[in-house]
Amino acid sequence: MEDKSVIIIGAGIAGLAAGYYAQTNGFKVTIFEMHDKSGGLCTCWKRKDYKIEGCVHILIGTKEGMLYNDIWNELGVIQNVNFGYSDVYYSIETLSKKVVNIYTDLDKLESHLKDISKEDSKLIEEIINFIKTIRNLNIPVEKEPSLAKLSDKIKNFINVIPFALQLQKWNSISLENLSKKFKSDVLKEAFPLLWYPEMPALFIFFMLGWLNVKNGGYPISGSEQIAKAMEKKFREVGGEIKLKSSVEKIIVEDNQAVGVKLKNGEIHKSDYVISACDGKTTFEKFLDNKFQSKFWKTFYEEQKPSSTVVKLVLGIKEKIETPEKSYLGTNIVLDPPVLIAGEKIKRMSVYINNFDKTMMPDNSTMIEVTLISDYTRWNELSKDQNLYNEEKEKVKKIVLEILEKKYPNISSKIEMLDISTPVTIQRYSHNYNGAIQGWHPNPKTMGLYLPKQLPTLKNFFMCGHWTESLGGVPIAAVTGKNIIRLICKKEKINFKNK
Ligand SMILES: Cc1cc2nc3c(=O)[nH]c(=O)nc-3n(C[C@H](O)[C@H](O)[C@H](O)COP(=O)(O)OP(=O)(O)OC[C@H]3O[C@@H](n4cnc5c(N)ncnc54)[C@H](O)[C@@H]3O)c2cc1C
Repeated sequence: MEDKSVIIIGAGIAGLAAGYYAQTNGFKVTIFEMHDKSGGLCTCWKRKDYKIEGCVHILIGTKEGMLYNDIWNELGVIQNVNFGYSDVYYSIETLSKKVVNIYTDLDKLESHLKDISKEDSKLIEEIINFIKTIRNLNIPVEKEPSLAKLSDKIKNFINVIPFALQLQKWNSISLENLSKKFKSDVLKEAFPLLWYPEMPALFIFFMLGWLNVKNGGYPISGSEQIAKAMEKKFREVGGEIKLKSSVEKIIVEDNQAVGVKLKNGEIHKSDYVISACDGKTTFEKFLDNKFQSKFWKTFYEEQKPSSTVVKLVLGIKEKIETPEKSYLGTNIVLDPPVLIAGEKIKRMSVYINNFDKTMMPDNSTMIEVTLISDYTRWNELSKDQNLYNEEKEKVKKIVLEILEKKYPNISSKIEMLDISTPVTIQRYSHNYNGAIQGWHPNPKTMGLYLPKQLPTLKNFFMCGHWTESLGGVPIAAVTGKNIIRLICKKEKINFKNK
């Protein structure tokens, strides 16, 4: 094949993955990225001698032979990133000040939950036994559904037959509804907080199974290592990234995408254009609202973006000891709730990083506090820099007062303090409403296939976390891979993984 060219907008995880597979399959790829580094939301930033984690606490796919491991191998992540493993997925403090630790060791988890509530033993056993049954199940989610052959479907069906009824049972009950089945008020309160309450319980059970078999780890030295590894691999196969190159428009001729126009006026032509950045920007700004299909129009009208966060990170000149290593830390109760950006906030997560020495100076600790907070209110505040800064100061004050109770005198040991808001995320990544992972999970759309092409625009494809009903780094990478499968099919090329 004479090299056909592909332009990709955005060097986030989806764009880098699409770039690698397109280049590997014989296309000449150029990625345009508005920042001076790749990674998008999967990033870190330096403040004094500390490196702040902007994204991944858990990357699924770190165990050979398990879900997502192949794609991370192909993209050079497994070979170039070291992973650490935690004892606890998440701890939830309840109103009664009990702490529920979700241990990754399933036997320990079972006895801990039974210690909290003997009367729920039967349900606890049922859940733990189910997680043990599925923990090594390699669920087939990587292949582009529209390209799956009948033989793939039959193979997948046979794989899940032994567990089909239970899979269906736990898929049809949300975390919220599962929690109602517990007799213990502590477990009733804790379970909906393990993820989004409306998520099927099945999702968290898979997550706990993967964590148990070490198919989910945190990237040592931060999630920017994932993006760096992918960029290296993409460049090794001959791909080109143009940094500090913001795309303004997709050029369309005769209902076909033929290139992009950059903010600096430059025009770049190509055979295919892939948008791997925010979907709303793609439809409204790049394409002037001209090609949005009925499906996508309705989807944007009816669905909500995922939640967004205020994050305060402290660098403490002291080693704080913790009984266990935890991926996400502890979700603590704010009683009474605090008022942040006009919203009553009832909970915050406190994650203590005292183990990744590459992120901080010796004998120090990083404390990361995360609060779910509405974008709209922060956006309003940001129109007046004074009001915006005042609100950030207020967050600092509130959070420090809470932390002082647990770690007396901590304020005097702060060496570094960084605060980001939903507006920071929006400004940095251009993601709609500062959403951290695309769409808010909705049981009705979960598993629904979202189209990656537009019926009236030829040679244009979309990937990334806005093109699936649930986002995250592995899903972004899979969408990048799958649209290249679609392009290969169109070009009658046998898709290659490497
Ligand atoms: C705080 C936080 C915690 C998270 N934790 C996890 C986790 O533990 N596990 C997990 O799996 N996921 C996690 N996520 C979600 C995950 O980061 C995202 O779902 C994923 O990185 C999305 O990748 P993407 O490539 O689809 O989009 P993005 O990362 O948004 O990439 C889009 C890229 O396009 C670029 N771009 C935008 N506009 C333009 C333009 N006009 N011209 C050129 N370039 C442009 C952007 O700069 C960016 O590089 C987290 C996210 C956040 C914010």
